[in-house]
Amino acid sequence: MQENSIKKGGISVETAHIFPIIKKWLYSEKDIFLREIVSNAADAITKLRRLSSLGKYEDDNESYEIKVTLDKTAKTLTVSDNGIGMTKEELEKYICSIALSGALDFIEKYDDKDAANGIIGHFGLGFYSSFMVSDKVELITRSYISNSAIHWECDGSGAYETSASDRSCHGTDVIMHISDDESEYLDDAKIRGILDKYCSFMAVPIYYVNDDDTSDADAEGKAINDTSPLWLKNASDCSDEEYAEFYKKVFLDYKEPLFHIHINADYPLNFKGVLYFPSRKSEYDSYEGQIKLFYNQVFVADDIKEVIPEFLLMLKGVLDCPELPLNVSRSYLQDNAYVKKVAAHIVKKVADKICSLCNNDREKYKKIWPELKVFFEYAALRDRKFYDRVKNCYLLELTNGEYMTVAEYLEDCKDKHESIVYYSNDRSIQAQYISMFESEGYKVALLSHQLDTQYISMCEANGSSEKYKRIDSEATSVLRTDEPVAEDHAIVEIFKKASGNENLDVKFESLRDTSLPCLLTLSEEASRMEEMMKLYSGMGLDVGSLPTEYTLIVNTKAHLINKLSSLSSSQPEKAHLMAKEIYRLSLMSQRHMTSDELKDFLKDSFDILGML
Ligand code: ADP
Repeated sequence: MQENSIKKGGISVETAHIFPIIKKWLYSEKDIFLREIVSNAADAITKLRRLSSLGKYEDDNESYEIKVTLDKTAKTLTVSDNGIGMTKEELEKYICSIALSGALDFIEKYDDKDAANGIIGHFGLGFYSSFMVSDKVELITRSYISNSAIHWECDGSGAYETSASDRSCHGTDVIMHISDDESEYLDDAKIRGILDKYCSFMAVPIYYVNDDDTSDADAEGKAINDTSPLWLKNASDCSDEEYAEFYKKVFLDYKEPLFHIHINADYPLNFKGVLYFPSRKSEYDSYEGQIKLFYNQVFVADDIKEVIPEFLLMLKGVLDCPELPLNVSRSYLQDNAYVKKVAAHIVKKVADKICSLCNNDREKYKKIWPELKVFFEYAALRDRKFYDRVKNCYLLELTNGEYMTVAEYLEDCKDKHESIVYYSNDRSIQAQYISMFESEGYKVALLSHQLDTQYISMCEANGSSEKYKRIDSEATSVLRTDEPVAEDHAIVEIFKKASGNENLDVKFESLRDTSLPCLLTLSEEASRMEEMMKLYSGMGLDVGSLPTEYTLIVNTKAHLINKLSSLSSSQPEKAHLMAKEIYRLSLMSQRHMTSDELKDFLKDSFDILGML
């Protein structure tokens, strides 16, 4: 039975206001109209599939699909589905009269575009967003339970007309007559681009047809979307290749990520996703993460920083959060309890992944550690919970090329010392100390990044069992022998004069290495302070500007010290020159010389060579 009479109506007083509001509020995000119409089509199909699975509809293995057709000549864009369709009553209820007053009140009250975007989704204005780009919209629909179809059309004024239609199959066509002002929506590349952005992972196959394009005959046969995206699968069913391929395709990043995390959170959080830790080619590459937010496979937005804590913003990935509304607004996300829980869950998952790599795949972990370390430290410094979860997975890179956790390091040297990690923060300047420690059988960790010092200080402040000691600090005491030392006041005076520092702290020790006359040390406390100053000044340290308090350790077993001792009474000038040279050579293992110091040092060295 077909309806023959043409029915006319006016949408409703409030609805007449929709058009200016839609044009005003959604202006900058016009592209979303296509997402709204295509996702309505996908919903209509999902509903019919559901009825079929409940045995309420017999579908004879129908192939459900959405077809998007661009007809440049007719200036139309059509979205067709073979879903549930609408009866006359449903059309009246859902399309012709919309409970808008609440939405309108809200928009008027809060003059806020962000909120308006959210509201338009909440109040089911999705279909009306088609009017952002159309002068006229036609809708032809036939319910799966009707044997007749209805044709509805409406222009921008809010007046509509319904009549009978001869659509033979259940489903709906939405025909948008693109207005002259919006002719960009008749552009093939533009439509492909929008479909690609918003519809790439929708649950129903979508076919795109450009009526003007006869060259691309194949395109009609191939859906533009992937209906079962990776994040919906079980992690155990996905191969590494699939994760890699997905990453490349979605983020157009050809550098292999360091690792991925597949999240499948059920009750009560209910969200799914795949997150990747990206890799940088060079240290000049910036880390710019990207989280694409989906709502039941429909793309929502791709710069959602709210769902990821600031210290994990370098992550790239997709999150499908069906608990969030499709038209989600920034302000909504900012103080949403669900979003906060999602963020906390992500932090936990990242920590779990780090632990599992460290404990179960050490080779891979070692490989990615140089890149991961700075984020590990930063995140641990920012979030105590994260630190507690991952602290046992901090890897020490040793000067001998090995990598080990702190526990492994301590275990390895438990016969030599208790709970002290010896470290160097500058491999080349401290080369002398490194070789002395190594030759005594100690392992030396390399902690040369500015964040390293902050990280180890934080570990100690949080009660870590290990303590960290820099190898050019009082840690050098492990290099001495047990032999008694005789202090020589004359030597103290010579070095004070040679260094130009009357307050120089001079100590005598008997070190095993007899070729080494002196060592300059800096207390652990002072060296940490120095590192902090570097960090906070944000610039390199001006080496001359800090009153650094070194201690000069004089090795009473060294040949040169014996010689200095005898010269001091017989040839004081030579002794002075020798002491100056020894002091400056020791200084070189602590820091770079200033330009004046270097000029002076070179001049004296040449003079000494002249004496040979
Ligand atoms: P929302 O999708 O947020 O509910 P819309 O304005 O987009 O709001 O749509 C209103 C209602 O119209 C939908 O809930 C649905 O019942 C109906 N509808 C829209 N498009 C279709 C379609 N293609 N097939 C069947 N029903 C539809």
